[in-house]
Order: sequence, then C-alpha cells, then structure tokens
Amino acid sequence: MSKKKFLSCAEEFVGEIHAAFPLAVKCDEPLMNVFHLVEESRWFYYLNHVAKFRVDVNTAAQTEGITHSYGSAAKIGINTAFHTPGTVVHELLHYHSHYHFRANFSAVLNEGVTEFFTRKVMKLGSGARTNMMGEGDIYAKEYAMIKALLVNGCVVDRLSPAYFLGDLTAINEIKNAPSFCTNEGVENAVIVHA
Ligand SMILES: [Zn+2]
Repeated sequence: MSKKKFLSCAEEFVGEIHAAFPLAVKCDEPLMNVFHLVEESRWFYYLNHVAKFRVDVNTAAQTEGITHSYGSAAKIGINTAFHTPGTVVHELLHYHSHYHFRANFSAVLNEGVTEFFTRKVMKLGSGARTNMMGEGDIYAKEYAMIKALLVNGCVVDRLSPAYFLGDLTAINEIKNAPSFCTNEGVENAVIVHA
C-alpha cells in the first residue's frame, strides 16, 4: 500500500473514532507527520531506538504498531509488513489518549481501554481481533478486564472523559468503582465475571 493510500485510510479511521467518541479531541497535526511507516528490515531498530521500546527480535516481529514520544509530538510507528486496520485504529486511539489517563492507570488498564474502544470503532462485537493471518485475539486479556470492570462498576460513561479529556473526576470515579482498587482488583473481577 502506498503512503498516500495508507494516510487516506487513516483519515477515515480518525473520522470513525470521532464519530464513535465525540470527546476525542481533534488534533491539528497532519497525519503524514504523525505516522512512520517502517519496513520490516528497520522495524527492530525503530522499536528499540526511535520508540525506545526495548524488545527482542522475535517480539519486534510480532509487534504491529507503537505510539511513542508522547512528551513531545507523539508519533505512531507502523510495522508495514505486519499489521491490520485494527492496528491503525488502536494506535490512533493511543494517540488521542490524554496524559492524565496514561499517568493514572497501569499499562494493562491503558491497553484494555484502548482495545475496548478499538473494538467499538471496528464494530467487532464479541468477535476476536486477529492479526493479519486471522490468528489470535489481540489484547484479549486486557479487554476482558475492562469488560469485567464495567460489569462490576458501571463506569462505561466515565471511560471516555477519562481517556480522551483526562477528566480527573472521571478518573477518580473509575478508581473508586467497586471492582477497581488496584490491578489485582481488576484481575479478581475477571475471575468472578469472565
Ligand atoms: Zn496499545
């Protein structure tokens, strides 16, 4: 796929994210400046040295995309040899996430909410999100945690303001939900409700 075609698909995904989540803050940065489309031969180097995501060669090959450099102008790296439309949506959601959200919750919860939103945008329902070979179920465990959290705590309407706006009231309500005290609380919720 050409970069032009990729970017026009990504623009459509941004539109779908904003349609699904009106609180997602629009970003002025042109997507051509946001995305790094990285070839297979450079992906391991890119992850370790550009994204500062320390992974071995095998993990790198299985990594489809990464959002990084949040502190300056955030960038999204895409493994051009190994990704799906869902990868692009997932990373675009990270890109739209607020610093307060990322700072207040664990990586596990961050991935869970990002994946929960990804599957809504992709309209996956209860279906798995697979890799480009149609295998696996990406972030299934983290996704299940969020579903369990919602079952127990009814915080679904708090997720969007917390994630996209960094709304501290919403963040605290999530933290104080009956099923959420620590990550263990979320894990336990899964055991009870999975
Ligand atoms: Zn992610």
